[in-house]
Amino acid sequence: MNGFTLTPEAAEPLLTVAQRNLERLATVPALADRYEGHEKVLTLADLAAVPPLVKDDLNVALAALQPKAERGATWLFQSGGSTGAPKVGHAPTGFYMETVHSQWQPLDRDDLFVNAWGAGRMWGAHFLAAAFADLSGCGVISVGSVTKDEYADWLAFFATREVTAIGGTPSVLRLWFAAARSAGVTLPALTKVLWLGEAWHPQLDDDLAAVAPNARRWGMFGSTETWVVGTNTPDCPADTFHPHPDQLVRVAEDGLLDFTTLNPEMLNPVLRYQTGDAGELVSCPCGREGTALRLLGRRDSVVQVRGLGLHVDDIVAQAERAPGVARAQVVITEQRGRVASVDVLLLTSTEAAPDLAATLRAEIFSSTFTLSTAFLHDPDSFQVEAVDALICNERTGKTASLVQREAGQS
Ligand SMILES: [Zn+2]
Repeated sequence: MNGFTLTPEAAEPLLTVAQRNLERLATVPALADRYEGHEKVLTLADLAAVPPLVKDDLNVALAALQPKAERGATWLFQSGGSTGAPKVGHAPTGFYMETVHSQWQPLDRDDLFVNAWGAGRMWGAHFLAAAFADLSGCGVISVGSVTKDEYADWLAFFATREVTAIGGTPSVLRLWFAAARSAGVTLPALTKVLWLGEAWHPQLDDDLAAVAPNARRWGMFGSTETWVVGTNTPDCPADTFHPHPDQLVRVAEDGLLDFTTLNPEMLNPVLRYQTGDAGELVSCPCGREGTALRLLGRRDSVVQVRGLGLHVDDIVAQAERAPGVARAQVVITEQRGRVASVDVLLLTSTEAAPDLAATLRAEIFSSTFTLSTAFLHDPDSFQVEAVDALICNERTGKTASLVQREAGQS
């Protein structure tokens, strides 16, 4: 096993794209040194020897290379950073959805599809889904983001129009289905739920059973830099994806994934690009041939708290194992470069015991070396709290397991 999702026979004839990207990257003064001695990428072994890129490297490269689409507009989308200094990726109109559609067709001409990915603020998912719907030839209701008190009216409209498909980030889909449950709206005509942007939330299975019992999930996986890398169907586990033939993924020995585009139209020079996601190569239980990719979460979930490493995913998992906790989020507040407090926010269900937060706080504090050591002198700086809503990124609608903020920021 070479660690790649494609065999040498399938991948190597397409490595001309990787070769071209290597040559482009080597012209960037700040990156030239790292590519010295890597003149040719003819084989997968050559590729595995090329140093990986991370987000900051890719942004340095894009700032220098300023890629432009051959035809039509060049779209700039935000892939991170702050409002004042966004890190951007580039894409041509169409967003490479033709390969995706050639591999994956959840929608057909008879579908009426609600595009619930937020639009604007340089977030690409809404436009990508629109391009995909265009290739599918379905009806589209382009909703984007709505505010809390607008859900019920929109849901009634969806029910009347008998929408058959909806797509969004799992966090946003949860808001839609939770709103439907509280408004008593069911969507029996809804058969397809498309998702992209985060891992599937298992609670969505409960929501679907209650709101849209005929609906099944169809997932896309990728990033703003790589665009859609792979997809899955209702017959695949939610964490397992089939990479598309123009996307080459490698699983390094430490489990970290890197991505190399084989698509000649790709504007971002994606050459062994690491997103921080970890995974493993598997054969998918759906029975489809070829190597599939099982995602194992992010490897950058360890943050420094007063000089000690805090494993955020472990804390979230421990909290989410408690009965009555639907979802947990770790919020780290810094003041002048030092961690002032760590809070665990809990989204609870009716099953939650009244003293759940206090019990969990005691359990997590005593079982987490980093917390009990870092907050030895100010144990009140670690709190667990049940809340009505977790903190979500308003631009993308994603709810991350970890939020880091400055004191004074809400
Ligand atoms: Zn599968």
